[in-house]
Parts: sequence; structure tokens; C-alpha cells
Amino acid sequence: MSSPVTLVLATRNQGKIREFRRILDAISNGAINLVGLEEFPHTTEVEETGSTFKENALLKARSICTETGLPAIADDSGLCVDALDGAPGIFSARYAGKHGDDKANNAKLLRELENVPADKRSAHFTCAAALVLPDGREHVTEEIFEGSILLQPIGDQGFGYDPLFRPHGLAISTAQMSAEEKDLISHRGKSLRAIAPHVISLLTPLG
Ligand code: IMP
Repeated sequence: MSSPVTLVLATRNQGKIREFRRILDAISNGAINLVGLEEFPHTTEVEETGSTFKENALLKARSICTETGLPAIADDSGLCVDALDGAPGIFSARYAGKHGDDKANNAKLLRELENVPADKRSAHFTCAAALVLPDGREHVTEEIFEGSILLQPIGDQGFGYDPLFRPHGLAISTAQMSAEEKDLISHRGKSLRAIAPHVISLLTPLG
């Protein structure tokens, strides 16, 4: 068997690296060696200046591909609430001001939806995933995960808005699901499974 092709994932988040690896390994049979940015400590932090999830995923993947000279993959995700005209959207991680303050973000979301009844709290998560190759080829996917925003948080699994998100057709929040259960139906799981065949066919000699 030929040696695995290295693909750089534009993140330092170990949870994200494990999730991408689980999905890619399942279909690449070890042909892809996925590495995170901890292997490239000197790469610059990419500013998410795009106006869509797809643009931001592409910005991150392009920048890491240029800096490392290797094929790169990146994702960008967030929560879009219908009653808030799609907010927090691409600003999900810093909705309440400070980047990654999940508690403050969830509190702000509940405040903004204070007078919105349960049947008007529809929402979806979106995840875009982008693959960029040194020869300029690019591929981007985007998938959504539909549900609604609960009146109060429940569950202690997951991250971000999980305690407030009830998937369509289920009676629990995503913070009450195991990572494996969530992968099967989530925006990220679907987006990664959609881009994985392109990763294989563009990167592996026999793909
Ligand atoms: P990023 O894609 O890492 O920039 O994440 C964007 C933000 O969207 C996260 O910080 C969370 O607030 C939110 N988010 C994205 N996906 C999920 C999810 O699966 N559960 C809960 N929150 C999420």
C-alpha cells in the first residue's frame, strides 16, 4: 500500500480533530494522515472576515494550504435562529461579545427569545467544510441540522448551544446525546461525510 497522504485540518481543537479523523478513517481506510495545526505552530490565526459559512471555511483552508504547502481542510459552523432573522449565524462563537463564551452566548440567546413562544423558536445549525489543494483545486460543502430552541438549557454533553438545541423530531437536547449519536444527524457530521469522498478522490492515487 502507498504511504498515506497528509491533510492539514485548520484547527487546534482536539475534539474537532478526533471527529474529522473518525469520519475520514471510516471511509479512507488509512489512506489519509490527518494532522492539526499543533504540528504547524507558526501558522497565522486566520481572521473570519467572510460573510457566509462557506466563505469563512474557504478563507481558513486557503490560508493554511498556502502557509504549509499541503492540502488543507477547514470548517465553519454556527446556529441560525428564524425568529432572529438568522442570528447569531456566522457570529455564533462571539454572540455575547467574547469569543467562545458559551455560557454568555446561551444566556443572550434566551434573552433575545424571551417573548417568542415554543412553536416559533425554529432554528438550524449550519456547517460548511472546505478542501483546498496546493494546485488550486477547491471543494466546499454545506449541510444543516434542523431543530428548535428550548425555553431553558438541559443536558451536559457537547458544547456551545447544545443545551438549548432540540433536534427536529426528538424530545431531548443535543447536550443529552452522545457524540456518536449527534455525529449521525448533525450539520458537522453530514458536512464531513459529504466532503470525505472528495478528499479521497482528490488526494489518494487510486481514489
Ligand atoms: P466554529 O465553527 O468552530 O467557528 O464554531 C462556531 C460556533 O457555533 C461555536 O462556538 C458554537 O457556539 C456554535 N456551534 C457550532 N456547531 C455547534 C454544535 O454542534 N453545537 C453547539 N454549538 C455549535
